[in-house]
Amino acid sequence: MTDKRVRVRFAPSPTGGLHMGGVRTALFCYLFAKKHQGDFILRIEDTDQTRYVNGAEEYIINSLKWCGIEPNEGVGFGDGPFAPYRQSERKALGIYKKYADQLIAGGHAYYAFDTAEELDEMRKRLEAAKVAAPQYNAVSRQNMRNSLTLSEDEVKKLLEAGTPHVIRLKVPRNEEIRFHDIIRGWVVVNSTQVDDKVLLKSDGMPTYHLAHIVDDIEMQMSHAIRGEEWLPSAPAHILIYRYLGLEADMPKLAHLPLILKPDGNGKLSKRDKSGLPMFPLNWYDERTKESYVGYRESGFFSEAFINMLALLGWNAGNAQEIFSKEELIHLFSLERVNKSGAKFDPEKTKWFNQQYLRKKTDTELATLFSALFAEKLSTVAAQKKTPAFIQGVCRLIKEKAHFITEFWDLGSYFFITPVSYDAEVLKKRLNPQSLSFIKEIKSALSLLPHFTATEIEHTFKSTAEKLNIPTGQVMQLFRVAITGVGGGPHLFDILQLLEKEESINRLEKALVAFEK
Ligand code: GLU
Repeated sequence: MTDKRVRVRFAPSPTGGLHMGGVRTALFCYLFAKKHQGDFILRIEDTDQTRYVNGAEEYIINSLKWCGIEPNEGVGFGDGPFAPYRQSERKALGIYKKYADQLIAGGHAYYAFDTAEELDEMRKRLEAAKVAAPQYNAVSRQNMRNSLTLSEDEVKKLLEAGTPHVIRLKVPRNEEIRFHDIIRGWVVVNSTQVDDKVLLKSDGMPTYHLAHIVDDIEMQMSHAIRGEEWLPSAPAHILIYRYLGLEADMPKLAHLPLILKPDGNGKLSKRDKSGLPMFPLNWYDERTKESYVGYRESGFFSEAFINMLALLGWNAGNAQEIFSKEELIHLFSLERVNKSGAKFDPEKTKWFNQQYLRKKTDTELATLFSALFAEKLSTVAAQKKTPAFIQGVCRLIKEKAHFITEFWDLGSYFFITPVSYDAEVLKKRLNPQSLSFIKEIKSALSLLPHFTATEIEHTFKSTAEKLNIPTGQVMQLFRVAITGVGGGPHLFDILQLLEKEESINRLEKALVAFEK
């Protein structure tokens, strides 16, 4: 068991877009597999055809690609030795039926012929009798139409007549089920809490409970890493493995903690209103006609998104917060995953993006900027479109931004000469004395042989001194004359980048406007 090759599957059901909780599961599966030089597999669990959503499978594949957590085996990533990887296609292999029959033969599963109405009546009966959790189990099954209550002959006849039926797991009454979870340690559940789960449906399709076990065994999975919502059904799964004689071969289990709302109050929902996306990519659900924005389309870097997700429930055991994917692979361990829920923090998520933004070179940022704002750039003068100028703009504004998508709003004045000026600043700072300062500095700057930030700053100070005006009284007006707005990066750097001709031109225009 211990020397088994590490094989971890991410096994989503294509019932909708993959939300960030799902991506977190995929990420942890990926990190664990890579850490142990193992395989990461994408298996599509599409046995519930009634919940199938068009486009979901493609969305899952594209999301994993964008996040850079690509399976080395499975649907959309090249078939491996265990193809097919879609359960609907695996049904034709006859494996699900084979294992279900084996359970029946061993006396651990049975046929149930109850109709929807009969099941409904059972539920009402149990509710009327104030049974806390009405379910098909060791007690209630005794009053139902199944191969445990009907005679062998009757069962045979019903089966031969093709009567619709399901196959259910025969869960024993009052038995202790113990299993080990890497994150939670030993878990003990009494079988009274476990219902007789349907294993094979009347259409011959397996349920998740049977199908994933069959496939985990057939595909030689070493670990099943999944969300906490699957913990309650794990005891039933243990019984299935046990009854199939496969308990020693079953994958090791690890149930990841929930992702909680920012206030810690309950599970994060895909309709969360914290203002940040809940999905990696834009997603439109054609069934519900709901649209969701993606992290990608909101201007997030996938590395930042992944870094943030990695820390939702895991930590490296120190204060480090920024991790490359390689570092995450190196440091990841399931033992360092918390049991308790992890709070989603929108502000921190933006912070992560900002950190990655700052790490990009000016050349990288300029390329991203040019692609994103190509349309806007097409309207500006040639010298403002040069890579060097755009890189300079990116260098100056990146400190103020969380996202590249904010760059235009933060720095449009680099490209477009202002035509309006911050009214608040004018009201507060425009007076005959400050106006004469703008006139004076315009002339002084036009004489500067080297138009560098240092020289400009020097000229700014000496002009203020000459006119006997404290710099604090003219600085903001000077900024507004150049940029139109009251805040921004270091002003003398802005002038240097704009160069002398454009700076003087802006001061002239501002003077006309200020003198009106
Ligand atoms: N198909 C299940 C899901 O959608 C997979 C659970 C598991 O990993 O076992 O979450």
